[in-house]
Formats: sequence, C-alpha cells, structure tokens
Amino acid sequence: MDIIFASSNKGKIREFREILEPYGINILSLSDIGFNGDIVEDGLTFKDNAIIKAKTIAKLYNKPAMSDDSGICVEALNNAPGVHSARYSPNRDDKENNKLLLKNLGDNKNRRAFYECDIVIYFPNDKYYHFEGKCYGNIDYKEEGNLGFGYDPLFIPDGFNVSFGLIPAEEKNKISHRGIAIQKMLKEIKNIF
Ligand code: IMP
Repeated sequence: MDIIFASSNKGKIREFREILEPYGINILSLSDIGFNGDIVEDGLTFKDNAIIKAKTIAKLYNKPAMSDDSGICVEALNNAPGVHSARYSPNRDDKENNKLLLKNLGDNKNRRAFYECDIVIYFPNDKYYHFEGKCYGNIDYKEEGNLGFGYDPLFIPDGFNVSFGLIPAEEKNKISHRGIAIQKMLKEIKNIF
C-alpha cells in the first residue's frame, strides 16, 4: 500500500518510512510524486493543519496521504507559539525562536509548557484518522545541551531535571509528543489499511 507523506521535511519522511515499512506501507515523498507547490497551513490547531496538508494531497492525487504537525505551547504566553512554533521569530531560526521565547517569558514563575504532535491519515473519500500526542514539562531559564532540535534545549520534560537538549533521542522518543502519537497510530495501523 502506497501512502504519500505530505511534508518536504526529509528527516520526518525517513523516520516515518522506517516505522511503517515493516507494516507493508510504502511512504512516497512529495518529490517522489512531483509536487512542488505550497500548502497554506492556516489552521488554528495542529490537528487542523495536519488535516489541511494530508487532505490537499489526498484529493489532488486521489491516493491516501498522511502528515504531521507539531509545536510547543507555553501556558503563561496563552499557549503561544503554538501553531506558529516554526516561524515564531521573523527568520524562522531555531536559535532565534528560543531567544524570543525566553525574552517573552522573562522571569515569569509559571514555566509550564507542552509539546503537541498530531498525525493525520487522510483517504480520498474524506475518511480520516487522527492521532495526538502531548508531552508536558517546563521551560528552563536558559538553553541547555544541543541534542534534538527546535525548542529542545529549553524544554525540561516532567520526570527529568534536564532539558531534551541533554536527553538522547532513544529516551526522548519514548516520552515525546511525536513518540506518543506514533505509538497510538501503530496500534491502529492494521485496522486502517
Ligand atoms: P513541524 O511539525 O515540523 O512544522 O514543527 C513545528 C515546530 O515546532 C518546529 O520547527 C519546532 O520549532 C517545534 N517542534 C516540534 N516538535 C519539536 C520537538 O520535538 N523538539 C523541539 N521543537 C519541536
């Protein structure tokens, strides 16, 4: 069974390919199918954006498509940056995003935050499946470590006293928002295809 992954992020595609191959599911990338358009992600939630991406491609190519959307929500900032996580700072740069987050949070005592990941598998007949994962924790006062990516050097997951920037991928994947959403998807995968 072929499924198109509606993202141009090569790392994500490789990760999902490795996970789904043993289930007889073959991931096609947008470049495999010759799509080089832009999909406007103007949803108000991660789920909306994941649906927008997968639905656009499923309808356009009349094939099942999947996508994921993720980000970080900080309680004291009214859940910002949320769906704007990747483009929080003007230059869409991880380091600048982290700097801006620290600046906006200042010395606020409430450092609660969560990461969310939403995976959507969308069929051309409009049937779709949605899997959500969340990972709760606190925002540190400074960046620590250089493992992971994005906001990881600032995010201390519950149950740990160091940031994801210092936690190896294998450990992160067990508790991360993406890891949890993927585990939920794998439980259902045989019923879906
Ligand atoms: P996207 O799902 O690739 O659009 O990611 C959105 C943005 O959320 C990323 O660019 C990061 O800034 C942030 N993000 C999502 N997941 C993670 C994570 O696991 N670690 C750090 N940052 C993340």
